[in-house]
Amino acid sequence: MLLQQFVFNSFGVNGFVLGGDSGEAILIDPSAGREAERKALSDYIETKGLKVQRLLNTHLHLDHILGNAFVARTYGVQPEAHEEDAFLLDLQEEQSGMFGLPLDEPSPALGNYLAEGDVVEVPGIRLQVIHVAGHSPGGIAFYCKNPGEVNGQKDVPPLLFPGDILFAGSRGRSDLFGGDEDALVKGIKEKLLVLPEDTLVFPGHGPMTTIGNERRWY
Ligand SMILES: [Zn+2]
Ligand SMILES: [Zn+2]
Repeated sequence: MLLQQFVFNSFGVNGFVLGGDSGEAILIDPSAGREAERKALSDYIETKGLKVQRLLNTHLHLDHILGNAFVARTYGVQPEAHEEDAFLLDLQEEQSGMFGLPLDEPSPALGNYLAEGDVVEVPGIRLQVIHVAGHSPGGIAFYCKNPGEVNGQKDVPPLLFPGDILFAGSRGRSDLFGGDEDALVKGIKEKLLVLPEDTLVFPGHGPMTTIGNERRWY
């Protein structure tokens, strides 16, 4: 598997490109809000000969979806996220004002809903969907239990892409659009911290961490 991280827009969202065995690619929060970021993303995809198959959003706060329109238009894919976050697509203008993020092209509607237990798969990549409400009602994490070889490195431990549910040393805020602190803490404890301690965590903002590192805060 290929794994490439980008840092997008003024909110510093971590977006990811995952490339499978025959070049099929999954994008997670490719929130390229600026022209230069869109070019960096598309240049990488072209250079590696990747075929974008899926456009996944961990949740639908505006900072995570600024690239959706570009990716949908360029690669012919539609965004996928949890149904309980779909209302946030109707609030893109409000989010733009609240976050102070310009919205030049709104995200298109979701093409598919992702729910707890779903699997997103292309050859060589298998992601399980884990739903943790609380930062947003439909927040989801993507868990890759057996990544195998990643960027040429063998036997890589499991990978987790939790969006803004979990950060290194902290977690997402719960005071926005349907947030719920109790649900967030409960979900983190019951669904994420139970994963293997060597799981590599790639949050939606900031540096990576591991499940073992984060357990000590709870
Ligand atoms: Zn968020
Ligand atoms: Zn965010």
